[in-house]
Amino acid sequence: MEKLRAVGEEGSSRFQGLSGELELQARWFSGEFGRDFVGTDGEAVRVVQFGIWNRVAGPDFVDAAVSIDGREPQQGAIEIDTDARDWERHGHATNPDYDRVLLHIFVKEAPQRFFSRTRLHQRVPQVRLTVPQGGGGTGEAEANPGRCARALQGLSLPDLREVLHQAGRYRFERKAAAITRTAEVHGSGEALFQAVAAGMGYPGNQLPFRLVAQRLPLRRLQRESESIEALLFGVGGFLPGPDLGALGAGARLHARALWEKWWRHWGSHQTLSVPRAVWRLGGQRPANHPQRRLGALAVLVRHWRAVARMAAGREWRRLRVLLSRLSHPFWNHHYTFQGEPTVRPLAMLGSERVAELLVNVFLPAAGDWETLLRMRAPERNRRSRIAAARLLAQRPDVHALLGDAVNQQGMLQLYEDFCSRDASDCAGCPFPEMVHRE
Ligand code: SF4
Repeated sequence: MEKLRAVGEEGSSRFQGLSGELELQARWFSGEFGRDFVGTDGEAVRVVQFGIWNRVAGPDFVDAAVSIDGREPQQGAIEIDTDARDWERHGHATNPDYDRVLLHIFVKEAPQRFFSRTRLHQRVPQVRLTVPQGGGGTGEAEANPGRCARALQGLSLPDLREVLHQAGRYRFERKAAAITRTAEVHGSGEALFQAVAAGMGYPGNQLPFRLVAQRLPLRRLQRESESIEALLFGVGGFLPGPDLGALGAGARLHARALWEKWWRHWGSHQTLSVPRAVWRLGGQRPANHPQRRLGALAVLVRHWRAVARMAAGREWRRLRVLLSRLSHPFWNHHYTFQGEPTVRPLAMLGSERVAELLVNVFLPAAGDWETLLRMRAPERNRRSRIAAARLLAQRPDVHALLGDAVNQQGMLQLYEDFCSRDASDCAGCPFPEMVHRE
């Protein structure tokens, strides 16, 4: 995703800078250059599926499918650079985010033959684009409507609601079952804690948050009530190094206080630290930085008895208020240890994150399907916007429909069940025919 550099070759010079890069990608994504190419090694390259725009660190397009020399299409990512050498210049060859790149597209060739390779020394097939003059201005859509969009457009509103409710119910029960399975092994309190922690990691850091919660069980954190935050940051691997000189005054003070507590636990916890490589730190809003979310988790653990009591009593309104009012003297004014303090206080958990935690964790854990049926949907995140663009873009009532949490959940389940598994650009997806049979 590194930005394209200026190039001097005719035909590629117009793609200089960020807007040039976006134009090239938009034209590629619109299919302007076609889908059949001859690779730089003479291989036949067919882009079976263009994928979706990637908005986090990593290659430009993900969930693409590419067939080489007529073989079975492989699912993975596509990277587009102006210059073939950008692969090396931008560090893709050593970046694990690029391990699943199937195709490296570029406009300008290197003076000498240049090979694109992943960190694992896999050769990445290359295609040099011949860019027709003119064109452009295709704009940027996050995803194109799929083959099912027309079929779903033709459904009556009650029928479409029924489809979405069924899928939403399935999704709800699957989440509930996952929490129940963890509860059978670790108890219901730990299961809820692990699920909440994973929910705090969304998007992109669910795994490391779950690892932290597994390595620091709730009962242990509650026993060490003076060291909760120090333990979370120590095991999370986010405590700044012992030399705190580069930090601002407030951050230095806070980090020092955490270190004083972490030292006492360091010997027994050092092997539990989550490796830095597991965290995804780029491509997200500063307010979602995992350091802030760990700070919020620390405050949440302090309030856990009230949280668990409200969840058990299905007191959702009170729980929402409690979660929205979590407060911390340092993290209310910092995105990270390293950044400048903010002038205005920041919410530890925004209203959308609180709503997501209710929909994805607390309601399934309590088996409260009825409340989900009445809930408004959290604001659409990138995944639900893409799913809406693929499945429901042609319905005039899409916004009203997706205002209900259960419909949004149903749509996400359909996306997961069909779109995420499809490598045929919809051609082999059975969903449109299933809709017709409804
Ligand atoms: S893959 Fe299937 S469900 Fe997804 S957009 Fe295409 S036809 Fe629709």
